[in-house]
Amino acid sequence: MRQLIERDLAVNWHPYSQMKLSQPIPIIKGEGAYLFAEDGKKYLDMVSSWWVSIHGHANPTIARAVFNQLNTLEQVIFAGFTHQPAILLSERLLDLLPANQQKVFYSDNGSTAVEVALKMCLQLGHNQGRAKHKILAFKEGYHGDTFGAMSVSERGQWTSPFSDKLFDVIFIDPPSTLNLEQTKALIREHAEDIACLIYEPLIQGAGGMLMHSAEDLSDLMAFCRSKVILLVQDEVFVGFGRTGTLFAADQLSIAPDVMCFSKGLTGGTMAMGITTCTNEIYQAFYSDEKQKALFHGHSFTASPIGCAAALASLEILLSADCQQQLDSIHKKHLAFLDKLMLHPKVQQPRLIGTVLAFEYHTAEQDGYFHSRQEFLYQEFLKRNIIMRPLGNTIYLVPPYCIKEEDLEYVYDMILEVLDR
Ligand SMILES: *Cc1c(COP(=O)(O)O)cnc(C)c1O
Repeated sequence: MRQLIERDLAVNWHPYSQMKLSQPIPIIKGEGAYLFAEDGKKYLDMVSSWWVSIHGHANPTIARAVFNQLNTLEQVIFAGFTHQPAILLSERLLDLLPANQQKVFYSDNGSTAVEVALKMCLQLGHNQGRAKHKILAFKEGYHGDTFGAMSVSERGQWTSPFSDKLFDVIFIDPPSTLNLEQTKALIREHAEDIACLIYEPLIQGAGGMLMHSAEDLSDLMAFCRSKVILLVQDEVFVGFGRTGTLFAADQLSIAPDVMCFSKGLTGGTMAMGITTCTNEIYQAFYSDEKQKALFHGHSFTASPIGCAAALASLEILLSADCQQQLDSIHKKHLAFLDKLMLHPKVQQPRLIGTVLAFEYHTAEQDGYFHSRQEFLYQEFLKRNIIMRPLGNTIYLVPPYCIKEEDLEYVYDMILEVLDR
């Protein structure tokens, strides 16, 4: 594989874009929580390969479902036609979501699931003859890399080349730091013109695994609802068990109007996106007037293979074994958190479900913004662990199938790296 890599054609892998010299690690096989490299090394995938492989790699149940689907129907145009896996998945998913979620819109990744949600909310007012133009979003949020998704995400180095092309958004503090009274005043001022609030519930993933309480988020959601602002809940990262419940929605006292899913949806097997919505929203698009339709269709919309993978992944997720694993990972994280609390280099240790995170802090690093990221990444790699710190935030997002002894090994190695 070396010669192939040296041709340097597929360059997405540069771990941190400025690291021109770093070489990717060729991976030839995956199994459960492990990834096997060409040189014989075996790595523990503690980021579930960018948070998607919730059941680990090469899961045989999902593989069988995909194989059977490939032999039956691999793809069909999803306009004017439909197929059984898409219908079954819609039914299965809606059964598990808050009762107000009644329609499913398929696309093919997390960013497009968000684009669809934003278009739904903006076009809704348009269809009803009272268009609203503003969108509310959380600071330090992340919703994807397409233009709409970038617009509602935290702006930074990575969006600055496009800043004049991104639409206006009212950014508010996330619930953990928000002054509710001040924010309510700001929302009240623009309420008539705000189409929706988009947010990552409970955990802002890419922003640094920032966590907030379900109560604080629910309070804000309730206020927005009272102002007829639609609630768009981006569960692309947290959906499918990550926060300890099937969906973050299960911990909130208000049901959202629109929900976005991807990442764990297919157990990390296929790229797929889903946006669900209420019947009220759907009705505003269902019309004899053609221009009221939501014109958004991707070539691989509702891929039968993706749907088959998602159905299999859901079955595994709902099994008693997997639910038991979620619980046991959480309890082990909790015990490790007690140890971390006492460590002088650890700040803000935090935990929701199977996501554990903390800030790495040393006195000498003051003034060197994010300077430890590459160091930490390499130290864990040397110990056969894949972890990708976000700045100085060290986090664990393990596949649910991880073994107890592997988790213990990772905890030990974290303490060892901290003591270096
Ligand atoms: C990853 C992510 C997205 C974007 O999903 P992609 O499939 O990478 O486009 C959107 N929202 C959240 C919360 C995410 O974590």
